[in-house]
Amino acid sequence: MNEASTYQALRGHLADLKLAAAAEALPGLLDAARSEALSPTVLLERLFALEVAAADERRQASLARFACLPAPWTIADFDFDAQPAVDRKLVEELATLRFLDDATNVLFIGPPGVGKTMLAVALGHAAVDAGVRTYYTTAAELVARCHRAALEGRWATTMRFYAGPRLLIVDELGYLAMPAEAAAALFQVVTQRYLKGSICLTTNLGIASWGKAFGEDPMVAAAMLDRLLHRSVVLNIDGDSYRMRAHRARAEATRQAVGR
Ligand code: ADP
Ligand code: MG
Repeated sequence: MNEASTYQALRGHLADLKLAAAAEALPGLLDAARSEALSPTVLLERLFALEVAAADERRQASLARFACLPAPWTIADFDFDAQPAVDRKLVEELATLRFLDDATNVLFIGPPGVGKTMLAVALGHAAVDAGVRTYYTTAAELVARCHRAALEGRWATTMRFYAGPRLLIVDELGYLAMPAEAAAALFQVVTQRYLKGSICLTTNLGIASWGKAFGEDPMVAAAMLDRLLHRSVVLNIDGDSYRMRAHRARAEATRQAVGR
């Protein structure tokens, strides 16, 4: 084979192996190899390094798509001064993601507007950035999906789906009443993940009122709490609503502007 047909064969191999980044970079790298007199080892290393970087990027993008995080919030966006009820050290420890190693659960408990979803989503982004398979759902969505799955004979698949991610974020538990079937679905998800994968749960329900929220079956509530809390970090955020605070600050600014 002459140089030109060898080059074409090489392009063909890269295409067959779906090494698109390497294929794209090949002409430039070959030019550089000639002009800078690169050794074959250096040339090959550069070519494959490009492909590895492209694969990492694809994996990262796919993890981010899969996670369904509803906002771009990160821990750095969280204003700890505005919410002294949140233990900064503890949140920073959580952001190291060490809690994932022993499937510790994280519960953010507090009234609306105190930053529960923001913290859960921020942990989600930290996890995705670290290459951790993460999935965000609201409790209502999870329950609705389980309900559909039961009707359509896909219960087992759906349960496997919720068992899969290393971090499962379940947002807004307790905003809707939980009939027995819904509580049972959530219970099974919690049970499957117990000691295997972390759940980050946000709820406006104080732990004492869980029994009532899963009213039709207090045993389910008790068993679920046992599993959730057995290995867990609980952050009670009983501070002011951040939304109300922003609203008050605006109102105050307006009052001052009009000189009253
Ligand atoms: P919750 O889930 O507790 O109801 P959210 O996390 O949705 O509250 O927060 C409500 C809004 O206030 C969001 O836009 C969030 O970004 C913002 N927010 C809440 N707490 C903080 C904070 N400490 N620093 C910055 N933004 C905050
Ligand atoms: Mg919320």
